[in-house]
Amino acid sequence: MMDWQDILARRAGRMKASEIRELLKLLDQPDIISFAGGIPDPALFPAADFKTAFHDIFSGAEAATALQYSVSEGYLPLRRWLAARMAALGVPCGPENILISSGSQQALDYLGKIFLTPADTALVTWPTYLGALGAFNAYEPRYDRLLPRGNRTAEDIAAAAREAGGRAKFAYLSPDFANPTGETLDRAGREAVLELADTLDLAVIEDAAYQDLRYDGEAIPPMLALEIARKGSIEACRTVYCGSFSKTLSPGLRVGWVCAESSLISRLVLLKQAADLHSATLNQMAVHRVAEAGFDAQVARARAAYRARRDRMLAALERHMPAGVSWTEPEGGMFVWVTVPEPLDGAALLARAVSHHKVAFVPGRAFFPDATGGNTLRLSFSATDGEAIEEGIRRVGAVLQEALQP
Ligand code: PMP
Repeated sequence: MMDWQDILARRAGRMKASEIRELLKLLDQPDIISFAGGIPDPALFPAADFKTAFHDIFSGAEAATALQYSVSEGYLPLRRWLAARMAALGVPCGPENILISSGSQQALDYLGKIFLTPADTALVTWPTYLGALGAFNAYEPRYDRLLPRGNRTAEDIAAAAREAGGRAKFAYLSPDFANPTGETLDRAGREAVLELADTLDLAVIEDAAYQDLRYDGEAIPPMLALEIARKGSIEACRTVYCGSFSKTLSPGLRVGWVCAESSLISRLVLLKQAADLHSATLNQMAVHRVAEAGFDAQVARARAAYRARRDRMLAALERHMPAGVSWTEPEGGMFVWVTVPEPLDGAALLARAVSHHKVAFVPGRAFFPDATGGNTLRLSFSATDGEAIEEGIRRVGAVLQEALQP
């Protein structure tokens, strides 16, 4: 094997294989019930609609556009469609406020790249989306707690960031049905983050990957909408909204978007030009056609299916979890977050769960920048249906019962 050690950049040292991806490789055995992957159910993909869309694109003059190089900002009709949709969410804006990205994951990478100098501080929820840590890590930040923050003041956070050799640059959060906890930040919590960002002069990265998947309760306006309500226009706002079609239409097509103040979008366009020129035009065109023909109906279908699975999982947890175990009750998204008594450890529980009970979940530690949270587990209900949810949770209950036995 070649030894790259001396020629790798320092940042490469912080890039490691995601525990979840490594784990998913082990789960091909057919008799395992997996609550591990947070992926959409492929049965819900609007495959027939995409078939029609791709067929129609290739049947007319659009074929040439679809196959040619294009602009880095993204396919204009899709950006216009998104601007109208953002307006309906309380974010009046134009296509100059939208950049199409290859999934929201690419947007997180670009935002890390554009904001972080090594030793700067990224404020994140604790726990947070593992893929965001993966994207930001390449830019060598220090992490600090955005939420929960305890009684630390803005000045405490700024002072710690200075001491680490940089400054706090952004707050990253997923306010609706977060990955991994499933929790939603209420309106007052969102306003408090916006105030902290004003005080510390931070960007706010609003990861809206699951926002469309609300099953009950009333929608809370996006952080970007709340900031516009305070400041009058998107052009005065520090919130950068990252949206995605992955959880509603298809993750495989890799189409997401950033909605933000136009000068930041222009800077991100330059990054995109340098990184990959533009996202696949064909996929953007197909997503535009399918979205225009019936996005709301597709979302309603996905919501109904996932709502039933969430209900089933919560009812099964009620039946099968031993005393001392607690869990979140998400109003949307794909995840339930389980806390088990200390000193039980998620990784050890998983090993036992897979080998003895044929059930899988994700140990929670990987979602904490400081590798705490050993006594937490993430369960996803999105890709398992019917009886398998009940049986899988019964098995998780059996794993925990055994581990708790004196
Ligand atoms: N943000 C969150 C919170 C996610 O869970 C995911 C996908 N797991 C993403 C962003 C990235 O999704 P995509 O790149 O497919 O839009």
